[in-house]
Amino acid sequence: MIKHDIVVVGGGLAGMRAAVEAAEGGADVAVVSKMHPVRSHSGAAQGGINAALGNREDDSTENHAFDCVKGSDYLGDQDAIEAMAEDAPRQIVWLEHRGCIFSRMPDGRIAQRPFGGAGSARTCYSADVTGLVILHTLWEQLERFGVKVYEEYFATALCVEDGMGAGVVAYNMRSGELELVSAKATIFATGGLGRVYAKTTNSYASTADGMAIAYRAGIPLMDMEFVQFHPTSLKENGVLLSEAARGEGAYLLNKDGERFMFKYAPNKGELASRDVVSRAEWTEILEGRGVDGCVFLDLRHLGREKILERLPQIRELALDATGKDAIDTPIPILPGMHYAMGGIETDKFGATRIPGVYAAGECACVSVHGANRLGGNSLLETIVFGARSARHAIAYIKGLGDVRVSERTLKSEQDRIDGILARSGGERHPAVRKRMNNVLSDNVFIFRDDAGLKKAVEGLREVREAAKSMTVMDKSKTFNTDLTGFLETEFLIDIAQCIAAGALARTESRGAQARTDFPERDDEKWLVHSLFHNTGADPRLDFTRKVTFTKWQPTVRTY
Ligand SMILES: Cc1cc2nc3c(=O)[nH]c(=O)nc-3n(C[C@H](O)[C@H](O)[C@H](O)COP(=O)(O)OP(=O)(O)OC[C@H]3O[C@@H](n4cnc5c(N)ncnc54)[C@H](O)[C@@H]3O)c2cc1C
Repeated sequence: MIKHDIVVVGGGLAGMRAAVEAAEGGADVAVVSKMHPVRSHSGAAQGGINAALGNREDDSTENHAFDCVKGSDYLGDQDAIEAMAEDAPRQIVWLEHRGCIFSRMPDGRIAQRPFGGAGSARTCYSADVTGLVILHTLWEQLERFGVKVYEEYFATALCVEDGMGAGVVAYNMRSGELELVSAKATIFATGGLGRVYAKTTNSYASTADGMAIAYRAGIPLMDMEFVQFHPTSLKENGVLLSEAARGEGAYLLNKDGERFMFKYAPNKGELASRDVVSRAEWTEILEGRGVDGCVFLDLRHLGREKILERLPQIRELALDATGKDAIDTPIPILPGMHYAMGGIETDKFGATRIPGVYAAGECACVSVHGANRLGGNSLLETIVFGARSARHAIAYIKGLGDVRVSERTLKSEQDRIDGILARSGGERHPAVRKRMNNVLSDNVFIFRDDAGLKKAVEGLREVREAAKSMTVMDKSKTFNTDLTGFLETEFLIDIAQCIAAGALARTESRGAQARTDFPERDDEKWLVHSLFHNTGADPRLDFTRKVTFTKWQPTVRTY
């Protein structure tokens, strides 16, 4: 058995930031990760990280907080948002002091670029590889503190003893054995859920594991219907072209070469918030002003030099996938599934309803993004709430004696996995996953309505039924990715059902939830978070958690 005071599940930015904070605080901390930390999806983040440094123009943490509140369509919890915006400049300096190389202005100060929905240019960046640069900075810090990393350990379940979190069960992918990783505090930092959709900007590993594990252990998920569709993903493969492109001045064009965004967002144009831009693009496409189901991202006027200096990766990604060089050709793009605003319900310190269990980063719902996240705020969330959850976990374990260690969950997980390996005859899991993907992509996309959502709920019930007899072909022990893929598919089905049920229940349009049959925001009825409880079948929903307000009352949201 493995034993530590704090175990962090996930080695992306949120997980590593939590682990470094815990190590700096003197705690015995370890990271459990299904892959090497620097391969985490965080490394794909291109555009940047927000903080009101005010290096290029006047800005304040209050302005930053307001932009988040407005961006969230007033569903974000304002106390958590203020905490994030206030901590942001400190965290940028913290990263900088640990060797993170940010792009600079000529006078040496950290450069900041404009991003969608932001009143000022406040997105700090490292060219267009920001996530990778921060990820490597944190990896160096893990090494510096000698934090133990259990790499290629796939967490399958949370241990709860006497009502308290007691660690996780993890499948050691190299040996094929299940192991108990016991801990006084467990921090989930397992990232997003993108693979629930047929096409996504997310990595293959973004399979909502931590969300589903917490959900199964009795922790509610929150605001799951709010899925962000990013305005610029490549038609060919769903890969993201960062908002940094529009931040640097790129245009969106329809088939007539018209910069259509000003029809939808007269002030902000291409730099309106993502929900607004994605809906605008989709409307252009639906009304016949796209080309082959796409519109275009046009960088040409930025010039070769600026593209090569500020957006080299974007150019390369487009070139690889389409053969088109953004320096002299507009790139076909369309909205693509990108981010989960919802996740494991936490308070503003990252604590869940089970003592000793925390969540941070994309798997968590704090909620700082509400119904729509602003670009550059997710990297920030991972850093701020990674650190906060670790600080809180350290305080929590201080007064605590030993937590009970039992092999109960290990045994039940062993039985479950033995049962899966023994099955034969049913559908193979990739086929079931594909069906689930299509149900969501077809019915729970940018515009939603009652009929489509009912179809989704029904379709997902059938998928869950089929999943009961689905099988793996590889019965071997060493590096059985067929088995881990199976477990991920099961996790994704739980999550898909929450997304569809939430979208059906919420009879209003707010942020990323756009109902054609309920086109208005309804603050009377729906200024509440959605909570999802596991029943083993359809989720049970409740709407008892109110949104926290500090300074800003809801007003009409325009850009
Ligand atoms: C292409 C792309 C570009 C983006 N660009 C930006 C940007 O410019 N700015 C911005 O603010 N946001 C951006 N985002 C969003 C942001 O990058 C992510 O939300 C954020 O990095 C998520 O970090 P994380 O630490 O929560 O999770 P991840 O980085 O996804 O890490 C998850 C970790 O959990 C581990 N894990 C998962 N399941 C298990 C399991 N069962 N057992 C053990 N370990 C497990 C994985 O191994 C991994 O280490 C972008 C996202 C994408 C996809």
